[in-house]
Amino acid sequence: SVILAIESSCDDTSVAICNNGKITANVIANQTIHQNYGGVIPELASRVHQQNIVPAVQQALINAKVTKQDINAVAFTRGPGLLGSLLVGVSFAKSFALALNIPLISVNHMHAHILAHFIDDPKPGFPFICLTVSGGHTQIVLVKDYFDMEIIGETLDDAAGEAFDKTAKLLALPYPGGPLIDKHAQNGNPLAFKFAEPQIADLNFSFSGFKTSILYFIRKQEKENPDFIAENLADICASVQHSIVQILLNKLKKAAKQYGIKEVAIAGGVSANSGLRNGLQKTADELGWKIYIPAFQYCTDNAGMIAIAGYQKYLKQDFVGQDVSPMARMEF
Ligand code: ATP
Ligand code: FE
Repeated sequence: SVILAIESSCDDTSVAICNNGKITANVIANQTIHQNYGGVIPELASRVHQQNIVPAVQQALINAKVTKQDINAVAFTRGPGLLGSLLVGVSFAKSFALALNIPLISVNHMHAHILAHFIDDPKPGFPFICLTVSGGHTQIVLVKDYFDMEIIGETLDDAAGEAFDKTAKLLALPYPGGPLIDKHAQNGNPLAFKFAEPQIADLNFSFSGFKTSILYFIRKQEKENPDFIAENLADICASVQHSIVQILLNKLKKAAKQYGIKEVAIAGGVSANSGLRNGLQKTADELGWKIYIPAFQYCTDNAGMIAIAGYQKYLKQDFVGQDVSPMARMEF
């Protein structure tokens, strides 16, 4: 089977092709326009998706060395995400399927972040635990089968990616700041500054208080030294990153213990973070976990993950009709 997949939930237009379970193209058109605004502007995002989508499809077909006539089904992100952005991808997918008279496959973006683990080897065995950390979500998921997943912990307010991005903003770094914090952290001391770990029950998270404590910390330091940020950027970034990673790993350890599971995965944009990747490896060595970390191109938003999820649905002939519409808040 050859499946064409479209991802347009936020600010990246991505098109991928899955040929018999292998990803043979994963084109990602990043939108740079939002950098000027310090965050994604939904109205601009949907307009840029409209400009990007046809060239991205053409490039994906070229990269995968297939033609439109070879495509057996079209998979698309139905939600969750920005409605205007989703609408571009969903409308394109519907038109494409209608024109070629092939079936449509609806994919949940958060399922797809997790199913990215079925693109490359080694693939996790069921059941496994996945920590999904992205720009809009922070979830610990018990994955029993491809589409049988249960959220066993999640953030009560901000996502881990937001904690990175909002801290970066406090440090006057451009959007999205997560990768920049990672970069500066490489040269800093992770134990230079200490930030309190939020005390949240069960397997849940909270990052809004954490962000505020960093704000107060910086304000206080700047009273004594106006150049505090400039002089300590690497140490601040390393310490913030270390604190966020510890918060994430402590809950992940708790979840693994509670469910008696040693197959542990991470997914979503923040799984690209080097501190998290190293910390997970260290924890795995200590506790005898088998861990799964996606390749960088499948951590942040990409259609490869939509294509692999679509492939699993194609095997079950799980299709949707032309009456399907996007869902900004799609149920997990
Ligand atoms: P969601 O999937 O919840 O709808 P999203 O699709 O916007 O949100 P992703 O594309 O999965 O999110 O991830 C983007 C987030 O990942 C941003 O917050 C970004 O700062 C963060 N991120 C990406 N790379 C890194 C990194 N190396 N270190 C820390 N954060 C990172
Ligand atoms: Fe995402």
